[in-house]
Amino acid sequence: MRHADYDVVVLGCGPAGLSAAVNATIRNKKVLVIGGDPCSPPMHKAQKIDNYLGLPATSGAELLKRFMDHAQAMDIEIVNGKVDLINDTGAGYQLLLQDEFINSKTIIIATGVPYKSTLPREEELLGKGLGYCATCDGPLYRDKTVMLISHNEEGENEADFMVQICRNVYYVPLYKKVGTMDARVKVLQERPREIVGENEVTGVRMTNDQVIPVDGLFILGGETSPSRLVPGLEMEDRHIKVNRKQETNLHGVLAAGDCTGKPYQVAKSIGEGQVAGLQASLLASQARP
Ligand SMILES: Cc1cc2nc3c(=O)[nH]c(=O)nc-3n(C[C@H](O)[C@H](O)[C@H](O)COP(=O)(O)OP(=O)(O)OC[C@H]3O[C@@H](n4cnc5c(N)ncnc54)[C@H](O)[C@@H]3O)c2cc1C
Repeated sequence: MRHADYDVVVLGCGPAGLSAAVNATIRNKKVLVIGGDPCSPPMHKAQKIDNYLGLPATSGAELLKRFMDHAQAMDIEIVNGKVDLINDTGAGYQLLLQDEFINSKTIIIATGVPYKSTLPREEELLGKGLGYCATCDGPLYRDKTVMLISHNEEGENEADFMVQICRNVYYVPLYKKVGTMDARVKVLQERPREIVGENEVTGVRMTNDQVIPVDGLFILGGETSPSRLVPGLEMEDRHIKVNRKQETNLHGVLAAGDCTGKPYQVAKSIGEGQVAGLQASLLASQARP
């Protein structure tokens, strides 16, 4: 397992993340950008952007390509991946990406439009029978009944693992073409509608109205809420709460772009990314209070 140290790690390679990275690099900071593939799904959907000053009637994909070319010309390190958890080490922040521990003095969250949960009441029931990593929490459900709802085929390995220790494992794929799994896993065709249980998960109501009783529920491969990404992060409605320096309530954690609030626009994302990049550079040069 490799360890790497940075001044600024940026989550997201859309306009906000790239703008932050460019500005922190100009301040001579060691910067890493982590983002999905393709970078910025919304930019790829925007057929024509007319309100980005100086570059009228440009498609989102073309504009993003210019932003990427700019970042690449500055040798900014951009890696494909999704970060699920960031821990405060006291001296800075640590995140796990694939098999690599990454340490950074500061973090800039530029993860785009606010997160949508898979089912209602997820935030309320998190840790009360609901989790997002079956293999991590598996031992808690030894000889019990669990359901895994997965957005992609990676959930199949988790179900195969859980069926070794649980009494019953239900698997609900939210994608087509399920692969070969352990025959003991019960693969359901119905979709989930809501979580059942007052103060903890006791079951899942499916679209045919049947309630399947479970002791534990795991939702895999969905979007990650920023407050789950960085525990303790303050939100305002569904957005990350920031001040005019793009700082959040956590020292050294900044946010920029659509994730901080409306209007969801490229120019606002670029501007906020710039402020975040500059402020992160300043904080990375100072001792942490
Ligand atoms: C159809 C359409 C038309 C539009 N038209 C216009 C227009 O005309 N004018 C305009 O100004 N704007 C327009 N927009 C909006 C514009 O595309 C967004 O405002 C802009 O893309 C926001 O940039 P962002 O960097 O904040 O987020 P995004 O571009 O959404 O980028 C978010 C990045 O975060 C990454 N990410 C998410 N979670 C994680 C994680 N856990 N770890 C690591 N990376 C993560 C994603 O992979 C992605 O790279 C349009 C959008 C759409 C959908």
